[in-house]
Amino acid sequence: MRFDLTEDQRALRDEVRVFTKEEIEPKARDLDREEEYPSTIFDELGERRLTGVTIPEEYGGRGEGFVEFALVIEELSAGLMSVASTIGLHLGVAEVVERFGTEVQREDFLPEMASFNTVGALGLSEANAGSNKLEMETTAERDGDEWVLNGHKQWVTNFLDTDYVLTYAKTGPDEDAPHNISAFLVPTDDFEVETVWETLGANSVKSPRVSLSDVRVPDDRLIGEEGEGYVQRGGLHTGVNVPARGVGIARAALEDTVAYTSSREQYGQHISDLQGVSWEVGKMAERVDTARLLTLRAADRADRGHDATREFSMAKINATQAAVDNANKAMQLHGGIGYTTEHDVERYLRDAKLLTIAGGPNEGHKNTLSEAVFEQYEG
Ligand SMILES: Cc1cc2nc3c(=O)[nH]c(=O)nc-3n(C[C@H](O)[C@H](O)[C@H](O)COP(=O)(O)OP(=O)(O)OC[C@H]3O[C@@H](n4cnc5c(N)ncnc54)[C@H](O)[C@@H]3O)c2cc1C
Repeated sequence: MRFDLTEDQRALRDEVRVFTKEEIEPKARDLDREEEYPSTIFDELGERRLTGVTIPEEYGGRGEGFVEFALVIEELSAGLMSVASTIGLHLGVAEVVERFGTEVQREDFLPEMASFNTVGALGLSEANAGSNKLEMETTAERDGDEWVLNGHKQWVTNFLDTDYVLTYAKTGPDEDAPHNISAFLVPTDDFEVETVWETLGANSVKSPRVSLSDVRVPDDRLIGEEGEGYVQRGGLHTGVNVPARGVGIARAALEDTVAYTSSREQYGQHISDLQGVSWEVGKMAERVDTARLLTLRAADRADRGHDATREFSMAKINATQAAVDNANKAMQLHGGIGYTTEHDVERYLRDAKLLTIAGGPNEGHKNTLSEAVFEQYEG
């Protein structure tokens, strides 16, 4: 067993690391404070096809695996979490089109998605369907060779700058659950925006509530088999973007803390020379390494075609909590100035908190993990 990245993986990571240092980090604080959409950053990511990193080369993407995807997302998230979430969710839509769509749908959507000329967002959650998506109320009824959609979607990240929402709707009776939900690619213009929330963090990319009223969608925008949309999601691998985002924030918090505590002087010495401080910094590094190892293990299992349910949930719980804990510790070790917007650590803490909730709250992942553990030993 080796824990080193390959040369190609290191090159990809370094390319994104340099991009993040030069193009994202200098702008991140202002983008967050001004709640400004990072459009030029996405344009440049599109030009580099990093917006299509997991899309196969035959459709214009880079054709990389999930380990490479996790590495890219970590780097972007270390710069600005909202950039990483937008790309992660966009590529989640692309994964559904690639794996469950028809060849015509793949050719229609994937090349444009790879370049970010067509942007995808996820419309799964609703007001009454958060942790339990099976309680969704949005419906799609067949009418000839069209579907008529009614309902709403909540928390559609990047909705305001997206082209299509992968919209999940009930197409069958509740007794058929979970085989009663289908996925449709619905143009954003067909939705009404109901609420754009003010949020604690993730300020530069909004996640509004949007509604659908008698929206007609042609049959060729149904992605995958009718009734199987929700079940198909169980086998997706792009969800590894959530723990990877956690690793990015946890690492950024560590690096800022090393820099700050090595230069800040009190008692005639750098505060990093106080053992109480240096042990905390060591602990922060341990959290980063643990979170990254778990995240890359889940991604690697997915790349090898193995079931990664247990590994993914473990990574999600660990890495998102590592982001919160490291951001919190970073603020403590920056003292008063860390509590201001002069440093990034207060943003890390605000952004990190989203990650233990979104992508399914960590409590739900604890259920998934513990079920898998009992199955492993009892089965
Ligand atoms: C900024 C933001 C962006 C988002 N982006 C998207 C997106 O792009 N697309 C999308 O479809 N969704 C998105 N979501 C939705 C997100 O996935 C949901 O918020 C999440 O699944 C939780 O649902 P909920 O908020 O309704 O919480 P609830 O389901 O109401 O849960 C509330 C709390 O109850 C506790 N809890 C829940 N289940 C359990 C359990 N089994 N055991 C113990 N405790 C439990 C947890 O502490 C949880 O946080 C986003 C959310 C936010 C806030």
